[in-house]
Amino acid sequence: MRSIELLESNVRSYSRSFPAIFSRARGSIMLTDDGRQLVDFLSGAGALNYGHNNHQIKAAITEYLASDAVVHGLDMATPAKLEFMETFCSVILRKLDLQYRFQFTGPTGANAVEAALKLSRKLTGRQNIISFTRGYHGMSLGAIAASGNRFYRTASGASLSGATFMPYDGYFGPAVDTADYLRTTLMDESSGVDRPAAILVETVQGEGGINVASKQWLHSICTIAKDVGALLIVDDIQMGCGRTGDFFSFEFAALSPDIIIMSKSLSGYGLPLSMLLMREELDAWQPGEHSGTFRGNNLALVSATAALNIYWRSPIFSQGVKRMGEIMRRRLEAVASGYGNGFAVRGRGMVLGFDCGATEIAELTTRNAFSKGLVVERCGPDDQVVKFLPALTMDDETLNRGLEIFEDSLAETMKRARMAVS
Ligand SMILES: *Cc1c(COP(=O)(O)O)cnc(C)c1O
Repeated sequence: MRSIELLESNVRSYSRSFPAIFSRARGSIMLTDDGRQLVDFLSGAGALNYGHNNHQIKAAITEYLASDAVVHGLDMATPAKLEFMETFCSVILRKLDLQYRFQFTGPTGANAVEAALKLSRKLTGRQNIISFTRGYHGMSLGAIAASGNRFYRTASGASLSGATFMPYDGYFGPAVDTADYLRTTLMDESSGVDRPAAILVETVQGEGGINVASKQWLHSICTIAKDVGALLIVDDIQMGCGRTGDFFSFEFAALSPDIIIMSKSLSGYGLPLSMLLMREELDAWQPGEHSGTFRGNNLALVSATAALNIYWRSPIFSQGVKRMGEIMRRRLEAVASGYGNGFAVRGRGMVLGFDCGATEIAELTTRNAFSKGLVVERCGPDDQVVKFLPALTMDDETLNRGLEIFEDSLAETMKRARMAVS
C-alpha cells in the first residue's frame, strides 16, 4: 500500500500533527492501527461534543438506515426533518423563550456563514459586515473575508472585500472598551466605515486563540447592532451545542441574536449538518433563492434529534459540563501559576486555552503529548495556545488522565528549554 504522503495532497494538516493511522474510536479514546490508545482532546475540532461513535446516538441512525427511510431527499419534507425541528423547538428554544425559523444549508459551517451574510445583505441593502480581529468563520470566500488569519486570507488568492474588522473584547488589554470604539465608529457619519448589514461575532473565539468575550461586551455589541440597524449574527458553530456549558454559547448573556449559525456538533455524531436560525420576520428568501444538494441530510437530522433527546431534556448534562470545565480550569491555572507569569489560561465551560506565550513551547508540548497518548491541537495567531476541547461526555478519570499527560508534556518541554538556556 502506498503512503498517505504520496497519495494525499500537500494541503493535509491533521495527519501531520498526529502522525498515526487512526482505525477506531469510541467515546474519548482513539485507537491507532499499531495498537496505541490515545485520549482525544481535539474532538474533531468541536464536531464530536458527544464523543466518537456515541452508542446511544448510533442506535438511532442504525435503526433509521435499517428501515429504508429516506436518507437523501434534497430539501424535501421528511418525518426526520419535521421531528428534528419540533424537538429543537421544544427541547432548546422554548425554555429560552426564543422563536426561530430553520434554514438548512449545505453541510459545512462555511456554507451556513455564507447564507447568513447573504441574507443580511439582502435584508438591509448594505454590503459591509463588521467582524472581529482574530475571528474565524470558514474557508469559502465570503467567510474568509470576515476572518482575520493572514495565512488563510493570502491563500484565498482573491481580493477579499465586504468586511471591516473591529477589535474584539480585550484586544487592547483590559483597560480599553473596544465596544465603545465600535459604537463611536459606527455612529460617526465621517468615520469611513460603511453602515453594516450585520455584526458577525463568536462569543469565544476558537481558532483565534480561545479569546472570551464578556457578558457586558456582548450586550454592548447587541445594542450597537440594534442602534445602527444591523443584524446580530452569532457564529455558534464551534462554541454551540454545549461547549461552553449551555446549549448556546450566548445563553449566559441572555442574548437573542437575529441569526444563529450552527454546525460542527449539531448532528451529534460527526455527520455534516449546518443550519441558520433566523428570527421569523427576517425570513426574506424567495423560494429556492439559496440552494444546495446536501441540505439537511436526514441521517444527520436523525442523529441530531437523538442528541437533543438524550442530553438536553434535563439540566443534568449542562451541569456536568460546567463542573468538568471547572476541574479543567482549576488544574490548568495551577499548572500555569506553578511556572510563574509566562502562561495564561482562558476559556468558558469545556473549552480552555493554555497560552504558552511562544509558538515553540506550545508546539513541542503538543508533540510530546501525542507521543505520550494525547491528541490536542493548537490555536491562536501564532499557534501558541494549546486548545482543550474534550468531549462533553468524558468521564472524570479520562479527563484527568489527559490533563496529566499535558502537564507531563509541558514539564518535559520546560526542562528542555531550561537546558538549552543554561
Ligand atoms: C469550524 C468553524 C467554521 C467553519 O466550519 P466548516 O465546517 O469548517 O466550514 C466557521 N466558524 C467557526 C467559529 C468555526 O469554528
